[in-house]
Amino acid sequence: MHTPVYNPRAMKFYVRTYGCQMNVEDSNEMGRHLKAKGLVETQNPDEASVFLVNTCTVRQHAEDRAFSELGRLKRWKAKGPGRKIVVTGCAAERTKEYLEDRFPFLDLVVGAKSIEDFPRMAERLLDRRDTDEELDYAVRAVDDKVAAFVTIMRGCNYSCTYCIVPSVRGREIYHSVEQILSEARERVREGAREITLLGQTVNSYRSGTARFADLLKAVATVEGVERVRFMSPHPYYMTDRVIETVAAVPQICESIHLPVQSGSNTMLKQMMRNYTREQYVLIIEKLRKAMPGTTLSTDIIVGFPGETDRDFRETLALIEEIQFDWGFIFKYSARDGTPAANLECLPQELIEERHQECLALMDRFAQEKRSRMAGATHEVLVEADNMGRTRTNYKVYITGNVAPGEEVRVRITNAQRPTLEGVIEDGNITFENFREESRSACTNRGQ
Ligand code: SF4
Repeated sequence: MHTPVYNPRAMKFYVRTYGCQMNVEDSNEMGRHLKAKGLVETQNPDEASVFLVNTCTVRQHAEDRAFSELGRLKRWKAKGPGRKIVVTGCAAERTKEYLEDRFPFLDLVVGAKSIEDFPRMAERLLDRRDTDEELDYAVRAVDDKVAAFVTIMRGCNYSCTYCIVPSVRGREIYHSVEQILSEARERVREGAREITLLGQTVNSYRSGTARFADLLKAVATVEGVERVRFMSPHPYYMTDRVIETVAAVPQICESIHLPVQSGSNTMLKQMMRNYTREQYVLIIEKLRKAMPGTTLSTDIIVGFPGETDRDFRETLALIEEIQFDWGFIFKYSARDGTPAANLECLPQELIEERHQECLALMDRFAQEKRSRMAGATHEVLVEADNMGRTRTNYKVYITGNVAPGEEVRVRITNAQRPTLEGVIEDGNITFENFREESRSACTNRGQ
């Protein structure tokens, strides 16, 4: 792993990210461009010369929080001559003119669709530096994350009626396989051992004749890549070929997040999700058969306009039937510019009530599943500060002497909370044996 040379006089930047994992990776990518220009990332906004706010517009709440942050940044900017404020992301795309009007002190607004132009725009901005002349450029810095993300596509061709993403991020565009592999190699060179491929509907990926399954295989062959994950797949593209590949390629981790959104076919149709409850259940059965012991998680929206008590019960029944390992339950909130925004909303108290009920059920299964982990031994890839992840994507706090990048055998001692606790059992293991060990362990449990 490379250690960035620290230059205390270098120009620094601070990043605040709102929203999803794709936004986090966009922030990382923009950070890498700034580092390539010689800037150094700081966790302290007071010592930064560039403040980057990467916004999200999926929920009104996230957008409001970002806008209040921008309001406060006026004072931050006034405190240091030459300070720059850069706003990027989905809310920047949706409300660019409004932002420039309401916050005239912003230096650069880059919408989500123009993210590929960020390096050029940032370069122009930095070349306009005025009173920062006393600051040096640092040496080129590198990312040193053990678990790194690689964005493989942008945009979304779906039209889920509640979702603002297609209008702010546009139609799907795919990076070439070569570009993705070279980025994966770069991340490995910087210290990554795990690569998560990112896309709004990541498994709809295509480039030339290559499809998502081909890409998965190719990324797994990059030297130094020991774990591969992907986020978020769409059920429609969870084809037999993808499932076979996920099961056959040892580097692909046994944890799949597959958003279902509702257990009611009526709601799925209203949401324009393009699959039925029965098709979703079939995919889960295939995944469990192909990869015994895999963890399965999901996203659910409660209180979508028109959701009857019966629709809601069908969602609860689906959770009971599948028994997800964990899940994220969202209260429906209308977003301007989406087709569902024209529909009549359910009363807020009802949405709240359903949210609580759904959460309680999901948590019950999550807790039950977690508690079975106590006493078991798992391979944990250490990411930072004694914190790592199992292949099944549980976060584990490890007692013992471990360094980021190590893969260690950890016996789980406490599974009460979502972050598990464990102790090192007998040092490092060879990763290649894992899939076989896992299979026999599952067979032994009669699954
Ligand atoms: S698949 Fe649907 S929910 Fe996901 S980004 Fe596309 S439109 Fe939005």
